[in-house]
Amino acid sequence: MKERTGTLAALFLLLSVGARSSPIEPPQAPPPAPAVVTAVKAGRLIDPDSGTALPNQVILIEGERIKAVGANLPIPPGATVIDLSRATVLPGLVDSHTHMMLTYKERPESNHYYLTYVMESSPLRAIQGASNAIQLLNAGFTVVRDVGNGALYADTALRQAIEQGWLPGPTVIPSGPMIGSTGGQYWPTPEMYKYHNIMYPEYIDANSPDEIVRAVRENMLFGARTIKLCVDCKPWMYSVDDIKLAIREAAQGGCKVEGHVQTVQGAQHAIDAGIFMIAHNYLTPEQHRQAAQKGIFIAGTDTPFTPYRGSKEAFERTVAQLRSAYDAGAPLTFGTDMDYWNERMKDEKTGRWLTRGDLTINFLLTWKAAGIPPADILRAMTINGYKAADIIQDRGPIKPGLYADLIAVSGDPLADIDVLRSVQFVMKNGAVFKQNGVMTPEAFFHPGPVRMPSGRWTR
Ligand SMILES: [Zn+2]
Repeated sequence: MKERTGTLAALFLLLSVGARSSPIEPPQAPPPAPAVVTAVKAGRLIDPDSGTALPNQVILIEGERIKAVGANLPIPPGATVIDLSRATVLPGLVDSHTHMMLTYKERPESNHYYLTYVMESSPLRAIQGASNAIQLLNAGFTVVRDVGNGALYADTALRQAIEQGWLPGPTVIPSGPMIGSTGGQYWPTPEMYKYHNIMYPEYIDANSPDEIVRAVRENMLFGARTIKLCVDCKPWMYSVDDIKLAIREAAQGGCKVEGHVQTVQGAQHAIDAGIFMIAHNYLTPEQHRQAAQKGIFIAGTDTPFTPYRGSKEAFERTVAQLRSAYDAGAPLTFGTDMDYWNERMKDEKTGRWLTRGDLTINFLLTWKAAGIPPADILRAMTINGYKAADIIQDRGPIKPGLYADLIAVSGDPLADIDVLRSVQFVMKNGAVFKQNGVMTPEAFFHPGPVRMPSGRWTR
């Protein structure tokens, strides 16, 4: 008995010591090793912001970050030289709206994603997310906004694991569970709703201002880097004031708000509240103009018509909506909602399975059908994506001081955007992940967390 009291006292002491140190301070990093210098010789280097390319550039990388960029830069002795002089180098790509921790299927769940949540555990879905992250990086996606259906914060854990160096993957901008009014995106049964265990990994109910504040704080506490609101998943949708409240609260934790919007009225509430980003494109042409005027990002999740998904009619609507948003000058991002799988997802010529990366890049079909010029597609896939991920100060553009995330392709994506389907080289944080079209991820695997986040610890 006495001993147990002693143990409890020790535990209490430990907890109170833990409480005194700030929970957001990073642990002490080991002293840095001398930075490895890498020189990438780029045959052509694209600046997607201006839609232009310069020939024969050298990118000098020290450790994880870009040190200098230019023609005829002297290459320091001892630097590792990567010769991409026959390729086009460009910044990594962004999927601004996806769900790596969800894979709903025709079998056994007949595409009912309610059933996926019931039949697949959060740990299984976390591992799917890790696999999808590798597949996306292999396709050239160095940043992914993962916005909900993240299996009880597997999305924030995946971000942390990649950041710590456990596995290669894109920089993940996770939202944690979507916040919505009663039921989230579900129409739950009373059993699901009242006992919550089934729906809670997916949605947080927030039915009043207090609950909205609490839900936003809870997600930020558990590592969200963006906040995802179900604006109008129910007829009792969030009001302009509700959305403004979420935006204000999120801002306190450095997060921006994305709204899932599926009705014209919901879109108007989101626009009037000054939301940062709208997911899905059910906006009217007038609302596209308002989004352009207010600088509200749109992630259209513009599904192509393929042997494995969609219909001709739906595709025509999607293309028209994308074109309308483009014509209005709304800031467009490349977003996919690519969170399903079926047995038709094979390369028609070779019969090999399409990867999550192949399926993601295949959304180019919609952008091309909408007649959007390659330079503008590329801007949506890079610059606008970094802005929507709220990381452009830190990574994305190939500029001194930023993290060295870059990819290379044969051919010229400013002339033929489809060359992005075959990314030959991928570098993330200055480390080579793919070379000559083959994954070489050894440098990313360690038996412990070799990288500590440079900024705040849990967020
Ligand atoms: Zn989505």
